[in-house]
Amino acid sequence: MSDPTRGPSDSHHYDVVIIGGGLAGGCLARQLHQEAPHLRTLVVEKRPHPVPEAAFKVGESSVEIGAHYFSKRLGLEEHLRTRQLEKLGLRYFFTHGDNRDIASRVELGPPQFPPVPSFQLDRGRLENMLLESNALLGIDVLHGCKVESFQLASEGSNDPHQVTIVGARPEGPAHEPAAQAHEFRRTVTARWVVDASGRAGLVKRKLGLARPSSHGANAAWWRVKARVEIDDWSSEASWKSRVPSGLRWQSTVHLMGAGYWVWLIPLGSGSHSFGIVADGDMHPYDRINRFERAMDWLREFEPQCAAVMERHADRLEDFLALKHFAHSCQRVFSPNRWALVGEAGVFTDPFYSPGSDFIAMGNDYVTDLIVRETAGESIAERAESFNTMYLRLFDAFIRLYDGQYPIMGNAQVMTAKVSWDNATYWAITALLFFQQRYRRPEFIASIDTMLRKFFVLHTRMQALFRAWNAADDNGVSSHAAANIVDVDFLRRLQADLAIPLMDDEALRARLDANLALLEAFARTWQRIAAEHHPSLARFVSDSESMAPPLDVKPLRVSMMRLPA
Ligand SMILES: Cc1cc2nc3c(=O)[nH]c(=O)nc-3n(C[C@H](O)[C@H](O)[C@H](O)COP(=O)(O)OP(=O)(O)OC[C@H]3O[C@@H](n4cnc5c(N)ncnc54)[C@H](O)[C@@H]3O)c2cc1C
Repeated sequence: MSDPTRGPSDSHHYDVVIIGGGLAGGCLARQLHQEAPHLRTLVVEKRPHPVPEAAFKVGESSVEIGAHYFSKRLGLEEHLRTRQLEKLGLRYFFTHGDNRDIASRVELGPPQFPPVPSFQLDRGRLENMLLESNALLGIDVLHGCKVESFQLASEGSNDPHQVTIVGARPEGPAHEPAAQAHEFRRTVTARWVVDASGRAGLVKRKLGLARPSSHGANAAWWRVKARVEIDDWSSEASWKSRVPSGLRWQSTVHLMGAGYWVWLIPLGSGSHSFGIVADGDMHPYDRINRFERAMDWLREFEPQCAAVMERHADRLEDFLALKHFAHSCQRVFSPNRWALVGEAGVFTDPFYSPGSDFIAMGNDYVTDLIVRETAGESIAERAESFNTMYLRLFDAFIRLYDGQYPIMGNAQVMTAKVSWDNATYWAITALLFFQQRYRRPEFIASIDTMLRKFFVLHTRMQALFRAWNAADDNGVSSHAAANIVDVDFLRRLQADLAIPLMDDEALRARLDANLALLEAFARTWQRIAAEHHPSLARFVSDSESMAPPLDVKPLRVSMMRLPA
């Protein structure tokens, strides 16, 4: 085990230098240590640690891929279970009337914890633990130091990269607050450089890799030092009895309206996180980008939430806003021994909390490349194939959000969309991660035809949802509830993520069966949409000789029309 106080002054060469010790960088260092403990890794993190809990970074809700990566792959289950909060799924409340009565809004969400868990993450608490445990594992960790500049080796050369670090190097172990510090500037060499610097995007900027995204949503968020229990927002008995545990507040709660959603996320440290995410054309950024403006906006669109916030205004811990958060990249993995992970590479949209999923998938790819390349294997083809697949996943995920915000106020169309998007995630995307196949390019190549069909169907369904919303009168019954896992095959798809590793043949058969199920599900939603809007009967192919429609009665929420 290396000495955690050792830094660049003691040794000048590393196998891997990771720029940024946030969630992506901290997890990558841990994964590299697990899979290749002999590698010398240096993590350079700009912020001095420990960092504050709660009022720290955004990105606090995880879903299945990210949660599985943290708990099972990185072995952090104990931390998640004892220091963070288990999540009671994703929960949505759709606009009804003036949004002053939570019990009258159509609710979409489970009454119980799902069989495959996910967690609410206090990012400060998680990143403190990661940095500290990485140092204890013997990984070199510098905090309160930043990468000032770097020089990548020329293409195809075997020379090391150079990284210049400046800062105050703590004199004590990296997992204790610095007792004394002295300024230093040092250049180290590295076989691999991984950019995990988040939005600073050091490598992306230097190499001009940025690819703009047309998805124009903006966000504002803040934390309050209080537990906000949405279960107390109504005393209506039938509403309360829908979630008898009284633990709705442990869900990632979404208050939904046309062009926006508001999140409420509880944190293990006792604070509560709030955020507004809105389409920039429908809700201009300058209506939400200051706390008072965000409160005015809440009073107009989400008055019940605004009233709760007013009661907690003296407990406000922070406030931040970000314009046009979606961004992409031309390349994230290079055979020239550099890579981008986490937000340094791409980011889609927080609606389904996929940030940690992309960290998990990206870190998995990078670990594979580094372990093989440092063992002498040529990785050129692998890097290309991983790069293509990762950016394809980005393109598939961004379609879930781009142009879809107008739908968010429509309870029926969004129920169809959420159930569809979750079904595709459980049936294909997450299953491939749980079954550890993203790192097997030959397996991915063997399912290429299935994947292409899946991406085409997925794109058509997103077009159907947009058209359905445009055609719909938005009428919706109040006091309705829907629960995705009330539908048998959806519950099974989620639970099946936890099944043991399958051999290639069995997994291919499972994926084909899941795609057939998705096709039947797609036709089911199309038929329901066409009952009221016959013009919608053309988005996915529909023939009587195909499988019969699936039973989705519990997801038909708006069949009772409001009086005109
Ligand atoms: C509005 C919003 C809501 C979101 N909600 C969710 C969610 O619910 N769930 C989810 O999974 N994701 C969510 N995300 C995404 C999530 O925030 C990111 O996926 C995650 O924070 C990325 O982690 P990271 O480690 O890549 O970047 P960061 O956490 O930003 O870490 C980068 C680190 O690099 C350090 N650094 C920067 N420059 C240097 C330098 N020169 N030298 C050394 N260190 C440096 C920084 O100090 C920082 O600690 C959300 C994003 C947004 C915008």
